[in-house]
Amino acid sequence: MSPAGRRFQAVGRNEGFVCAVCGAVVPPLANGSCRNHCPACLHSLHVDVMPGDRASDCGGVLVPVAAERSGKKGWVIVHRCERCGEVRRNKAALDDPAWPDDHDRLVELVAGGPGPGGRPGSRGW
Ligand SMILES: [Zn+2]
Ligand SMILES: [Zn+2]
Repeated sequence: MSPAGRRFQAVGRNEGFVCAVCGAVVPPLANGSCRNHCPACLHSLHVDVMPGDRASDCGGVLVPVAAERSGKKGWVIVHRCERCGEVRRNKAALDDPAWPDDHDRLVELVAGGPGPGGRPGSRGW
């Protein structure tokens, strides 16, 4: 069913990619961690089992469905795979000097999606 044998042995590599959703050409993170989602539309691809290992055969689009603030990690984007339904959490890269994640998109996610209403009263910045 799923295309096998297309694994990338690039464990933990910090590399750029072309966003499969909006077509943005995404550079690697400049601050050294592993970029795993598009800074423009915040979508990702279900290609990892552990972050950066490219060990998943799913390949579905990970849709950003929410964002939450984690004490240690800062902002975390919650993704749900369109294909298999798996929910993943990925650290947002708002501080990346080259191309930080789109702050407005993140705020929309915190507010429960695009459109007015539902915005939490306490914002931790
Ligand atoms: Zn994108
Ligand atoms: Zn999946």
